[in-house]
Amino acid sequence: MNAKEKRADSARLKEVLSRNECPVCSLLSDDEFDLLCHWVGKSGPEDGATEERIRLSDSNGFCNYHFWRFAKISGMYGNAVMSIDQIGKILNIPGFNGKGNNVIALLKDHIKNVRCPVCADLKDMESAYLEELMSLLNEEENKMKYAQGDGLCLPHLMLLSERKEAGPLLQFLIERESVQMGKIKADAVNLGKKRNPPLSWEQTRNEKRSGLRAIKKLVGRQGQKILDKTNQIF
Ligand SMILES: [Zn+2]
Ligand SMILES: [Zn+2]
Repeated sequence: MNAKEKRADSARLKEVLSRNECPVCSLLSDDEFDLLCHWVGKSGPEDGATEERIRLSDSNGFCNYHFWRFAKISGMYGNAVMSIDQIGKILNIPGFNGKGNNVIALLKDHIKNVRCPVCADLKDMESAYLEELMSLLNEEENKMKYAQGDGLCLPHLMLLSERKEAGPLLQFLIERESVQMGKIKADAVNLGKKRNPPLSWEQTRNEKRSGLRAIKKLVGRQGQKILDKTNQIF
């Protein structure tokens, strides 16, 4: 990442520090949509073997989540174009014509080796945002902004805790996490108390969004990777 891109990231991150959602998830959601739109833009039947199509073919396709997100944005031609290379690759597996006895193992290999390019790009961006966040939080003014918002989701707090440089910041982030979760819980409890009129007319925006804020806090944005069964972050 060059210095100009780094400054742009830093400015974007500062803007979302005090939002009622995880700042890293917030930027990644926008990036994910931009990336998918970029792929849709490269899926015209007339484009031929673009760099993107070759990359997608080498990656064995998108992951389940991103194939479906792509399909929602793209039309029938784009979906066809971005799928035919994968179908072609599978049809070329030796013995797939019914005469081979190792086909299932080869198919499993193909599926195991899906390296979704959208996931890969987002992972790089996520890593850059976490690094930038740590640098921003060295300044008191940014710490105060961060304290006003909902703060990092649990998956991103875990990811950040894996970094050696996070050490001095962890205490602050965990303390904030506890206060931020307490606020979300209080908003959710209040929402329940104000279920019926006339109290329902006094529901605040944060109370109405408390359920979604709680879900985002617990699992991150839609599609966010969390800990796997062996507690490895992937
Ligand atoms: Zn997050
Ligand atoms: Zn993916």
